[in-house]
Amino acid sequence: MEFRADLHCHSTCSDGTLTPKELILLAKKIGLQGISITDHDTIDAYSEAIPQAKESGIEIISGVEFSTIHMDNSVHILGYAFNLNSTEIQTLCQKHQQRRIERNRAILERLTAKGFSITEEEVQSCASIPSHGSKRIMGRPHIAQAMVKKGYVESVQDAFKLYIGEDKPFFVRGELISLEETLQVIHAANGYAIIAHPHLIKNESLLANLLTMKFDGIECYYSQFQSQQHERWIKIAKKKNWLMTGGSDFHGDIKPTIPLGCSWVPEETFRVLQNHFHNVMSETT
Ligand code: AMP
Ligand code: ZN
Ligand code: FE
Ligand code: FE
Repeated sequence: MEFRADLHCHSTCSDGTLTPKELILLAKKIGLQGISITDHDTIDAYSEAIPQAKESGIEIISGVEFSTIHMDNSVHILGYAFNLNSTEIQTLCQKHQQRRIERNRAILERLTAKGFSITEEEVQSCASIPSHGSKRIMGRPHIAQAMVKKGYVESVQDAFKLYIGEDKPFFVRGELISLEETLQVIHAANGYAIIAHPHLIKNESLLANLLTMKFDGIECYYSQFQSQQHERWIKIAKKKNWLMTGGSDFHGDIKPTIPLGCSWVPEETFRVLQNHFHNVMSETT
C-alpha cells in the first residue's frame, strides 16, 4: 500500500471535533501510516495520541499550528518534530493561549454590545468536551457554533462570512505575537518551522518577504488547493531546499467537506521528520 502521512489536522484539544484517540483510530481505518496533529496553540493531544498511535501501529510526530502577525498580516506557522518536553514551546503555547482567551472575550463583548448576546459559558457549552479532560483551546469556530445555536446565524460559514471573519465587523485581532518569536521558539525546541497553507497569503510582497525568513519548509499539499496549485509551492521548496510538507487541515464535522487524509506527504518526507523527532526525543528522555 502507498505510504501516506497526513501532517495537518486538528483534534478536540483545539477546534477539531474528534478526540486525539478518535483521530488516530480514523487514521488507521482509512489506511494512513503516519500523522501529525497540529492543534492551534496546544500540544495537549500528544499525551493521548502517542500511546494510541503505538497501539494502532500509526507513526506519529509532534506538531502544532500558531497564528502569528507579520507585516501587519496574519500568518499561520506549523511546527513539526520539535521536542514535546521543551519548556520554550510550552511557554509559547501558553502565550498564544492567553492571547486567544483575551481575543475571544473581546469578540464576545463586541457581539453582545450589538445585540448578539453570547457568554463565554455558552461558547464553552457548544464545544464538545475532550475525553482526556485537558482544557480545550477555544476559537472562532466555537463562537460561530454558539451563534448558530442561539439562532443568530444559520451556519458556521455564515457566522464567518457575515460577522467574525477577518475583515468583518466583529473580528478582533488581539495581541500581536510575532512570526520571528514563534520561529525562534520552534527552533529552540529543535523543531522545523513551516509556512502553512501558502495559497491563503494573497499579498505577494508578504510572501516574498516570508521566503527570505528562516523557515524550514512550506506546505506544498493541502486539501483546498486548486488543481496544479501545488506545483508553485513545490518549485519554491526545491529552490530553497525546504521540506515539502502537506496535510488535509481536517477539523471533523465542523468542516465536513474536508476528510482526513485527503492531502498527505510521501514516505520520504515523513521519514526525515520522523528520524529528527526520534533523535530529539531520545536526547531528552
Ligand atoms: P481562530 O484561530 O480562533 O482565529 O479561528 C480560526 C479557525 O477558524 C481556523 O481553524 C479556520 O479554519 C476557521 N475558519 C476561518 N475562516 C473560516 C470560515 N470562513 N468558515 C469556517 N471556518 C473558518
Ligand atoms: Zn482550526
Ligand atoms: Fe491555519
Ligand atoms: Fe489548521
